[in-house]
Amino acid sequence: MNLAILYRGPLASCNYDCPYCPFAKRRDPPELLRADRTALTRFTDWVAATTDVSLSVLFTPWGEGLTRSWYREAMVSLSQLPHVERVAIQTNLAARVDWLADADPGSAALWATYHPGQVEREQFLRRCARLAELGIRYSVGVVGLPEHLDEARALRAALPEEVYLWVNAAEGHRYDAAEEATWTELDPHFGYSVRPHLSLGEPCHAGETAVSVLGDGTVRRCHFIPSPIGNLYDGSWRAALKPRPCGNAICDCHIGYVHLKPLGLRDVFAGGVLERIPAGWPRQHDGAPALAGPALPLRTVGQSVVSPVSPK
Ligand code: SF4
Ligand code: SF4
Repeated sequence: MNLAILYRGPLASCNYDCPYCPFAKRRDPPELLRADRTALTRFTDWVAATTDVSLSVLFTPWGEGLTRSWYREAMVSLSQLPHVERVAIQTNLAARVDWLADADPGSAALWATYHPGQVEREQFLRRCARLAELGIRYSVGVVGLPEHLDEARALRAALPEEVYLWVNAAEGHRYDAAEEATWTELDPHFGYSVRPHLSLGEPCHAGETAVSVLGDGTVRRCHFIPSPIGNLYDGSWRAALKPRPCGNAICDCHIGYVHLKPLGLRDVFAGGVLERIPAGWPRQHDGAPALAGPALPLRTVGQSVVSPVSPK
């Protein structure tokens, strides 16, 4: 049995001040940080004890987790467990990454987002270079705002070819065909992000082989459907796992639609579903993407998008 878990505890603070994010420069009170640490410890203990399941974990904190020691420790300890296939976290890469020397590079991975205006590109690239030295898998992404385009191009040019750069469609921004083509030059899979997927009634792995877990152990199909299907700590999650159609009108966040069965993205991102690295990456040496651009089998909404997704 394989299960992918997207874990999100109460932590909602961040050291960055991105203008497109509700968690910018937010501070968590000490009691919330203590609760977040306690919840994460309980979760990692559960993962360590649940050896009859092959587990993959993606930490998706509202804010930044890697500035907190307990997320770094969780990444290291979970990476060393034989039944944990992958442990990854969404991060702004602000914190040093040397601690990953203690992690198993076969299972630890990062989903790193570059936020122009919050960090110098050179510093971000130094973090990436250190990850490469440590042999840690990572993807790098940017929010596809027009004012980010020059930085995104410079980042793409500076990153090694083997590093995949993804682009998220920006919340509230409308993309015409020319803009979409521009961003697709940087991320051949931008087409999946630029239009929300009409998912109502469509079969989805979420709730079957992927779940969302909150700090108190509440298990939901995904981060986007609030109704619980069980709890991690009373064992009720096991009986809850089964195939289901999606109950939401649209799915427009990568961490959700990557599990939407008709899209087939688990094949496109095989081996890197959680940290968002396509199978077959890097690009070929002639500059062409190793994979074709997205052929979208699902209906999508319009030519442009107003996306309510997190900027991560
Ligand atoms: S987008 Fe990410 S890095 Fe920027 S403020 Fe929000 S949580 Fe922090
Ligand atoms: S399609 Fe998206 S919203 Fe629907 S169940 Fe799957 S992950 Fe959740």
